[in-house]
Amino acid sequence: MSQVISLLQKNLLTWYKHHRRDLPWRNTTDPYAIWVSEVMLQQTRVDTVIAYWHRFLETFPTLADLAKADEQAVLQIWQGLGYYRRAKLMHKAAKQVLSQFDGNLPKTLVELIKLSGFGPYTAGAVASIAFGEKVPCVDGNVIRVLSRIFASHADVTPHAFALAKHRDPSSINQSLMELGALICLPKNPKCSSCPVQMRCQANQQQTIDLYPAPRKKPNVKNVFAAALILHNPQEQTFLLQQRPSSGRWPNMWEFPYFEFEENDMCVEQFLTTKFPKAANFAKKGKVRHQLTHQNIHVDVYFAETFEQSSGPTTQKWIKDVSTLPTSVLAKKIQQTLG
Ligand code: SF4
Repeated sequence: MSQVISLLQKNLLTWYKHHRRDLPWRNTTDPYAIWVSEVMLQQTRVDTVIAYWHRFLETFPTLADLAKADEQAVLQIWQGLGYYRRAKLMHKAAKQVLSQFDGNLPKTLVELIKLSGFGPYTAGAVASIAFGEKVPCVDGNVIRVLSRIFASHADVTPHAFALAKHRDPSSINQSLMELGALICLPKNPKCSSCPVQMRCQANQQQTIDLYPAPRKKPNVKNVFAAALILHNPQEQTFLLQQRPSSGRWPNMWEFPYFEFEENDMCVEQFLTTKFPKAANFAKKGKVRHQLTHQNIHVDVYFAETFEQSSGPTTQKWIKDVSTLPTSVLAKKIQQTLG
């Protein structure tokens, strides 16, 4: 096996040297910048991440800057990237690192994994890429590549560990991820361009379609909801409310939003009882938003009011909605105004 591993390492590194994409976080040795890229890249396309990564580091150039920032400022920079829990946990971890490690990220997987938001993947990625520790980082791409190379449905982590035992674990890990992103695609892998084709058991057995084992599709539930864009024409302001600190889109701001059990709710009557001082209710349209486990259908209403009483601290009347961090769904709702 060790000879197979060393041949795979050699093939992977030669290919990576010539074919890797020139991504900005590959041109830095700053562990903090590498960490930010790894968190952003989870569940998000590389093309999308590049602009966010630059903007984030311009706003919070050091880990200490992030740790000292207000959470709302962090969420604002993150808005549009989705999975906001990542930003909250990264902010929390930055505070931990500042107070416990004098602002320097710890260098090993074992220490990193104790920080907020660090799972085995992120800890392995930062430890190997930023600090050269010989540990793997196993994401969906790596699982696909290794399960095909070894034609196995078993956990690929032992193979990933064996491969990472190299003088350059950073390039080994990144070559596996890059191979999964560019060549060993979920459908129609480009085997004829693959550097490990001769050593890939699934390719040799022509059983590529069997690997990796298919994942169970999540149950997607329909959620019916209403949102109200409440406008004060005198003050030229809109009412926004803040979401709870846990659950979907934590602490983000949105137009008043309500979810219903069924689709037969009389929405306008409901909104009238919630906002008795509002008038001129008008339906602006429907918005749909797809999440992993939910398909959200929102009826969007507009209404006016001249009463702008100050409510709880989780509500604000605001002239420019873009000054607060809002979810993608809230932006879609705003777009119904035209
Ligand atoms: S030969 Fe094909 S299936 Fe095997 S690792 Fe390469 S791209 Fe993937």
